[in-house]
Amino acid sequence: MIPANFDYQAPSSVEQAIALLESSHEAKLLAGGHSLLPAMKLRLAEPALLIDLGRIPGLSYVREAGAQVALGAMTTHAAIAESPLLASRSPLLSRAARQIGDVQVRNRGTIGGSIAHADPAADYPAALLALDAEIVARGRKGERTIPAREFFSGLFSTTLLSGELITEIRVPATTGAGTSYAKFHHPASGFAVVGVAAVVKMASGKIQSAAIGITGVADHAYRAGAAERALVNQPASAIAGACSRAAEGVDALGDHFASAEYRKHLAAVYCRRAVQEAMAAKA
Ligand SMILES: Cc1cc2nc3c(=O)[nH]c(=O)nc-3n(C[C@H](O)[C@H](O)[C@H](O)COP(=O)(O)OP(=O)(O)OC[C@H]3O[C@@H](n4cnc5c(N)ncnc54)[C@H](O)[C@@H]3O)c2cc1C
Repeated sequence: MIPANFDYQAPSSVEQAIALLESSHEAKLLAGGHSLLPAMKLRLAEPALLIDLGRIPGLSYVREAGAQVALGAMTTHAAIAESPLLASRSPLLSRAARQIGDVQVRNRGTIGGSIAHADPAADYPAALLALDAEIVARGRKGERTIPAREFFSGLFSTTLLSGELITEIRVPATTGAGTSYAKFHHPASGFAVVGVAAVVKMASGKIQSAAIGITGVADHAYRAGAAERALVNQPASAIAGACSRAAEGVDALGDHFASAEYRKHLAAVYCRRAVQEAMAAKA
């Protein structure tokens, strides 16, 4: 469990970090270290250079940004879980953060590190998809904003380009909607066997719109489009039927703990719970 040798740099600005990233093809950014360091100890990752983001000021915050809430990439899961601003403006992300790992993981792990790592069982991706969040990335050529729907691209992979780092995540205020995150925890790791995030708007006793993000089932989190469409203009009695389509067309993962078929079954069950809880949260 000893990592291979590596160099270490702790830049004091994002620009310096980008320059260091460009300087070596085998460089890796270090945030909370709660995914990268275990991978290095197992020699699944052997970066020649670690670029520690921890000394760069101004990358950890939760603040109002017009109709959105902006979070710095180095904001910890604990800060997100406890943010009064998120609680009042966009509570879904806090609900997901509260269900990540344990106290130590939440105190060190960051939202930027989590989404860059893109673990198929991570919690944030489901919430960010349901919220139609945006991810801000910066590289040598400048800054770009990536919709969450275009960010998660596969198993441990994203559309982040080499030489880019995530600086900010933006989530819309969900005033007027009910939100929920329902998770089946893996009993050993605590990761999501299945996690479902829901953002539900009601009008005249019917579901006006539903956005459902699902993690844990496939190689990357996805929006459950078939279930979302089946919920529109429907009363609460239609939720179970609509959610039976939560994994429609999805190539599910299976392992010795949960088969692909079981994961699809859980997706339907947790979709129903999340949508029902979201409706109750609004009421
Ligand atoms: C025991 C344990 C239990 C856990 N349980 C859960 C759980 O239930 N749910 C869950 O979602 N997660 C869980 N995690 C993972 C945890 O949330 C990690 O904190 C997270 O996956 C990685 O964040 P980090 O800040 O530690 O990133 P690091 O480990 O430092 O980095 C991860 C990757 O992201 C890259 N990176 C980091 N920051 C940036 C950036 N700003 N821009 C671009 N790339 C960047 C790094 O180069 C690296 O490749 C668990 C981890 C442990 C150890």
